Amino acid sequence: MKSEIISVGTELLLGEIVDTNAAYLSQRMAEIGVDVHQRQTVGDNLQRLTAAIETALGRADVVILIGGLGPTDDDLTREAISAATGRPLVRVPASEQRLREFFAARNRVVAESNLKQCDVPSGGHHLENVCGTAPGVFVEHEGKLIFALPGPPPEFREMLQRSVLPMLRERLGPANVLYSRSLLLTEIGESQVADMLGDLISAQTDPTIAMYASPALVRVRLATKAADQAEADRKFAPLEAHIRQVLGAHVLGADDETMPVVVGKLLRERGATLAVAESCTGGLIASRITDVAGASDYFMTGVVAYANETKQRLLRVNESTLRDHGAVSEACAREMAQGVRKLSGTTYGLATTGIAGPGGGTPEKPVGLVYVAVADDNGTVVIEQTWPSTREQFKARVSEMALALLRKRLLGAV
Ligand code: AMP
Ligand code: MG
Repeated sequence: MKSEIISVGTELLLGEIVDTNAAYLSQRMAEIGVDVHQRQTVGDNLQRLTAAIETALGRADVVILIGGLGPTDDDLTREAISAATGRPLVRVPASEQRLREFFAARNRVVAESNLKQCDVPSGGHHLENVCGTAPGVFVEHEGKLIFALPGPPPEFREMLQRSVLPMLRERLGPANVLYSRSLLLTEIGESQVADMLGDLISAQTDPTIAMYASPALVRVRLATKAADQAEADRKFAPLEAHIRQVLGAHVLGADDETMPVVVGKLLRERGATLAVAESCTGGLIASRITDVAGASDYFMTGVVAYANETKQRLLRVNESTLRDHGAVSEACAREMAQGVRKLSGTTYGLATTGIAGPGGGTPEKPVGLVYVAVADDNGTVVIEQTWPSTREQFKARVSEMALALLRKRLLGAV
């Protein structure tokens, strides 16, 4: 069953609103085994919207429209479905009654313009909207299914779950559904992964293998259609074992096992605690650690020591260290990690100091230079990197790098 999504609204084209509904819909469709082959985004324009629906009907079995069902003049989805299918709009008495009752219950009268929400292309039905006034629309036209749902995300999601997904599931019968499993890779680049998995990737059929890179990590996603999770797992297992063997310690985990989750798990297993002193990451490490539920079991302290004075006063970094080596130096990172560990009495102290840019670089200390340190009972390890990038990317990468260093320390690899 091929489907197409049409998101309606000029605000989407202007980039004022991100099309979260379409992303949500795509995920739900994959779960029930309906392929989404195309997506269109159209402004509030009757002609272009009608053309978009005609195009979609020419190539998909199911067309789902999002938005444009409201009462105002620029809400044109009903009209466009009518035009594309040649089905005139007819009033649905039950919907009109419901709308009048809705307004009467709030001591308001229905504006005439509101009543157009009670229309449906002839032969079609309304889908109940329990969170708002605009009903959804369902039309079966020449063997194709057309759905139109309201744009406000809570109404959209509710109607999708309540009406649309059950109808699609029923028509599909017992179907193979798309399952996926992601392996998260650390401290390796996309091209290196591509080289190492080259044979596997070029020979892929089922499951399929795809790679996605973000500033901090690379994701290898396996996907397959299966009758249930158990069958999917059986198909993933040999491939995953192969990938884990080739990539070794670069494999951080699977699915939601991101760096803060994995590090948290290791700390908890060992009954260890952590304090973090951040300069160039500005609190991002503490923020990411505390994104994980239960982080209070192991995370004690986060200090954002941005100023030299704070590094000295709070973390006991030596004045001579700052004078002789500067704040962005191996020595300073070392003292920050030791200082925050001592301040909090934790098993581990983790610290970052670097030059995020765009200003502040020198030939000896260029933009992107960063030192990350981890301290524990056995001593302190400091690593140096140079990563020129935007401030946002720099912070993301350095936070990942610091947590990766801690992970390696926890695993006894450094
Ligand atoms: P509409 O049904 O077109 O009147 O849309 C009502 C409101 O829903 C819009 O102002 C947006 O705030 C929101 N909205 C519409 N379409 C989307 C979408 N595709 N994704 C997220 N929000 C949306
Ligand atoms: Mg709109």
